[in-house]
Amino acid sequence: MPGAILNHRRAVLAGLGGFLGQGALSACTTSARPGLAPRPAFTARRIAPILMAPERIIRITVCTRPFRAPGPRLDVERVGETLVVHNYGHGGSGWSLSWGSSGIAARKAMALSGENGSPEIAVIGCGALGLTSALQLQRLGARVVIYARERTPFTRSMRATGTWTPDSRIADADKVDPDFPALWERMSRESFATHQTYLGTQGDPVVFQDRYILARANPGPQAAQKAEDKPGPPEIRFAEYGERLHDIVPRSVAIPVEQTPFPGIASARFGSGLQFNITELAHRLMTEFQMGGGRIETREFHAPTEIASLDEKVVINCTGYGARALWHDRTMTPVRGQIAWLAPQPEVDYSLFYAGVAVIPRPDGIVVQNTRGGDMVGYGSEDETPDRAEAEATISRVAPLFPSVRPPLPA
Ligand SMILES: Cc1cc2nc3c(=O)[nH]c(=O)nc-3n(C[C@H](O)[C@H](O)[C@H](O)COP(=O)(O)OP(=O)(O)OC[C@H]3O[C@@H](n4cnc5c(N)ncnc54)[C@H](O)[C@@H]3O)c2cc1C
Repeated sequence: MPGAILNHRRAVLAGLGGFLGQGALSACTTSARPGLAPRPAFTARRIAPILMAPERIIRITVCTRPFRAPGPRLDVERVGETLVVHNYGHGGSGWSLSWGSSGIAARKAMALSGENGSPEIAVIGCGALGLTSALQLQRLGARVVIYARERTPFTRSMRATGTWTPDSRIADADKVDPDFPALWERMSRESFATHQTYLGTQGDPVVFQDRYILARANPGPQAAQKAEDKPGPPEIRFAEYGERLHDIVPRSVAIPVEQTPFPGIASARFGSGLQFNITELAHRLMTEFQMGGGRIETREFHAPTEIASLDEKVVINCTGYGARALWHDRTMTPVRGQIAWLAPQPEVDYSLFYAGVAVIPRPDGIVVQNTRGGDMVGYGSEDETPDRAEAEATISRVAPLFPSVRPPLPA
């Protein structure tokens, strides 16, 4: 029986794409330190109910994760006289890995510019990777111009959940170079540290948030359904490296179900997760970039040769899924993801995972996201059309946790 529970937990966490990291599975209920009494990692507290009803939907967003089987592209390519440092293909981990990946790209670009002082370097793209590349370059002393077709708040990055998920659909474990796991770890550690420099700053662009991972008492036949039950592309062995960060990422602990307010659950875990309030974070990054003398120009490129015609001869390419068309990169696969947004409830200060659904409150709305079926869901689909029926079905799976929220009276 314990094995069954563990397997269930693994399935739950797989659906979240590293929501709390593998460390969550091995954590114990207290943290023991030599010479100190073990301290509890949880105290029960009153929490506000979430108004989990389709009537509360304010928008439904869809975007494609830029998945590359070998992992993000970070090599250097010469196009005519121009040196292009690639920085794209971060799957479901673009925000999480942004600072670390962009730090690597920026240091390469500075070295290639060959100039002491203040070289002028271009960044293509204004999503998570473009903005952090531009800032990393400025912090190294460069003058930076961003060229992008879309800018904040209209990039795909703005449609992300905003959780710390550094190995969510980051690569195919069977297609990566042997040194990729170590590179991933370096990116993750630099990112985790840099994101935390925004903690406690105005507008709370980055926060740590309480999280409950709940298992249903009666999962029912549907809950056990896996992606492989349905026809589709062959299963990918998505890389999982969470264990490499066990020393820095908070772990979840098992807690007594009766110390939670949620009815009908068989087991519960509690933890703390890094959360990006993306609307505020992207706005902050744009402002910092412009205050640092950065310039943004709206521009669409149709071929690499157009990039070679720019005045800047060192360029960081952060075009995300756009690189598939621009660079004819066929290793790039879209992975569709949808979020239903409920009207914000500022009093809700915790997220939860239950019945294959992630629920995450943000100042700009409450994320309700289906994770049932695992990481293959949406694989190969670049359809960005919102699916209202899916949104409502996802909300209805979590609604039983909040029985005090009454359905509306008939009209
Ligand atoms: C539903 C969903 C939830 C997600 N949740 C998370 C999460 O919780 N945590 C996390 O870390 N990641 C998450 N992700 C993944 C994350 O959103 C992506 O990895 C990230 O947004 C990629 O950023 P990017 O800057 O590479 O691409 P984009 O945001 O797509 O930016 C690309 C930029 O390049 C420009 N561009 C593209 N082509 C051209 C061209 N030809 N000419 C000029 N400009 C061009 C675009 O206009 C844009 O400015 C999620 C993704 C989805 C779909």
